[in-house]
Amino acid sequence: MSVAVNHTDIHAENSSEFPEHMPSGLRYSLPDTLTIITTYQCTAACSECCFECNPKVQGRLGLTEIKQYIDRAMADFPGLKLVVFSGGECFLLQQNLYAAVAHAHRRSLRTRCVTNGFWGKTQNTCREVVRQLVHAGMDEVNISTGHDHQEWVPVQSVIRAAKMLVENDIVTVVVVEIDAPGSECLQQLMEMADIRYLLQRPKLFHLQCNSWMPFHETSLARRALQDKSELLSGCKQLFHNVTLTPTGELAACCGLTLEHIPEMKLGKQSAMQPMADRYYGQLTDFLKIWIKVDGPYTIIRRLFGDAVQEDLQDVVHICQACAILHQHPEIRARIQQRYMEFMPEVMSRFYLQQSINSHQASLACNPVLNPPEKEGSI
Ligand code: SF4
Ligand code: SF4
Repeated sequence: MSVAVNHTDIHAENSSEFPEHMPSGLRYSLPDTLTIITTYQCTAACSECCFECNPKVQGRLGLTEIKQYIDRAMADFPGLKLVVFSGGECFLLQQNLYAAVAHAHRRSLRTRCVTNGFWGKTQNTCREVVRQLVHAGMDEVNISTGHDHQEWVPVQSVIRAAKMLVENDIVTVVVVEIDAPGSECLQQLMEMADIRYLLQRPKLFHLQCNSWMPFHETSLARRALQDKSELLSGCKQLFHNVTLTPTGELAACCGLTLEHIPEMKLGKQSAMQPMADRYYGQLTDFLKIWIKVDGPYTIIRRLFGDAVQEDLQDVVHICQACAILHQHPEIRARIQQRYMEFMPEVMSRFYLQQSINSHQASLACNPVLNPPEKEGSI
């Protein structure tokens, strides 16, 4: 479902040009991230995997295709700064992954890989992978772990990988699933001597705990979210992130429920075809702008008030709320009936936020306000 900014029909067709009503500066700042979901194949088969990845899944993007997508995105999006390689398990691409990272690095883009750390199994495999990453110019690696992940990848592999990455000056983030009432993965990690050592290098190492979204009726319950701010806020991915799936589809985000929301798919993308028209066409879709500004959870609350409180009590992730918003017939109907009431105020906040962002970006480039750091300066 999408809602046109300039029309009253519910399905806004993506326009083929940069929308006239949008500040033209947006073309130069958004999107800033290209996410390439290289494959849905994985060495693990976590029961709550958002893309249902496992070792049997076939299909991955080839090196030529990945390089062409990077070049295409660079040509289309002048604000592009970061390429994220994810999956599935992107390290299954082996040499192709390193070559793709090197390709992005040579084009002055920052690079990040998301992995479960399976390659940290032995000191030798770990050393070889990190050597290749250093050679390719890798900037950051995010390693996922926690209760479900550790059924497939031992925590020792994660720690070995994290240590070797940090020792080679690659920024490393270990992301832990929020624990179930009977598991203590986060606490156990924080008590490990290796992790305590890594935490003393805050410029290179971060440990973070994320909510873990249930995908089945029988899913293991997780502890309550302590901080609900992310759930209640606007979507950080929309318009900032352009995503390519392993089947060569262009997508609006790489959210956990991407495969459950057809409206987030923007169509088949050949590596030679321009991405910009379809991507910027989303800026005519009021519902995406509303999700960006308020977030799906808050939109549902605004449409239904306190009456919906009980129905949302088990929602732990912003993308879970997004899937509910798109799939629930009553919510879709209410959006169609009432979106015009919210449009002026939501659009005002969107324009204002984008103006502030571009002003801040210009201040960051001002050499008087942000002089380059001199060696030895305090
Ligand atoms: S490691 Fe990640 S991609 Fe692989 S099955 Fe688990 S959640 Fe899915
Ligand atoms: S909240 Fe919706 S639009 Fe945003 S990342 Fe999640 S699924 Fe995508």
